[in-house]
Formats: sequence, C-alpha cells, structure tokens
Amino acid sequence: MQNLPEIDNLIKLISKLPGLGPKSAKRIILKMINNRQEILRPLANNLSDVFKNIERCKTCGTLKSNNNPCNNCDDKNKKFSKICVVENISDQWAIESSSIYQGYYHILGGTISDSTKGNNRENLLINSLIERIKNDNIDEVILATSATIEGQTTAFYIQDSLKNINVKISKLAQGLPVGGEIETSDDGTLISAFKNRKDL
Ligand SMILES: [Zn+2]
Repeated sequence: MQNLPEIDNLIKLISKLPGLGPKSAKRIILKMINNRQEILRPLANNLSDVFKNIERCKTCGTLKSNNNPCNNCDDKNKKFSKICVVENISDQWAIESSSIYQGYYHILGGTISDSTKGNNRENLLINSLIERIKNDNIDEVILATSATIEGQTTAFYIQDSLKNINVKISKLAQGLPVGGEIETSDDGTLISAFKNRKDL
C-alpha cells in the first residue's frame, strides 16, 4: 500500500471499532475520501463536537452535553419514583426504545467483576445511586443488569449496598435468556422481563 501515515493511523483506529476489521476500515476510509464534502468534512466536525461537548454524567452515568444539565437525573420537570440500574448506555437505549419503562436510569458503566478495568464502587457510581435514591424520593430500584454471571454478581452487590435503605428492590424476570444481555434483547423479551420483575 502507499505510504500515507494519516491513512495508516485511521485504519488502525477504525479497526478498533466493534464489528470492524482492517478490510472494512479501508472501505470506510475510501468512501469518506471519495465524498469529502458530503461525508468526510461533516464527520470530522461532528466527531470533534462530540469529543468536546459530550461526556458521561458524573451523577447518573448517562451521556450528557456538557453545556446543559443532564436530562436524565437533573431535569427538574421530571418526577419519577423508579430508578432502573443498567450496566451500559446501550442498555438504557434498548429499554427506552421498548417503551416499557418510565423512570430514571442509573448507568453503572460496567460490572463489579470487570477487574481488568479496575471497576469498583466509585467507578460504578454506587454511592451516587444511594444519594439519588434518598434525594429523589425513589420508591423502587429495578436491577436490570444482564443475565450473565458478571451482571448477576453486580446486581447482588448493589442489593447488598442498599440493604440499609428503605426502598423496594426488584430484578428483571428471567424472561431474559441465561447469559442474555439487555442491549441485544428484543423489545418483547424486555417488556416481559420488566412486567414479570421480581421483588428482592
Ligand atoms: Zn445525570
């Protein structure tokens, strides 16, 4: 191949994205270069905007624009009594698109057993979850972690962390297949898992 360091670097970066290898990275880059005005320039600007303006909320863990209050946990017009605890933002998006649930979200950003990432109580925003439950008058915490060993260990850990707080704790029903992840579950499975959730 030609010796173009910019392109080589881009291939390496794009190959790190989920589902993409060097071959698809090259196809994507050629498509962008062949459409400089329609794709390459707006994409470059857009990525730069996302880098500058979008971050994880330090209270609830979802994505927020750093120019505005968080529209999940800091919206004074929203008054919910339930909070749904998920591992990742993609889980929040999956539950939102199923429309089964109206309430706050709390995004852990992983599981307790992600020891490689050094995920601990601080990183998983568990202290912040406790504060939110107290301050927002929450009456139900729905644990919607995956039906994997890591997800279930995390759910148990959170349940234990909340044992001195007077709040109902429920867990999604095992409509979710064992090993099932929230993000990849279809709407029907999610709706049934929410409707049949069990009190802990
Ligand atoms: Zn927030």
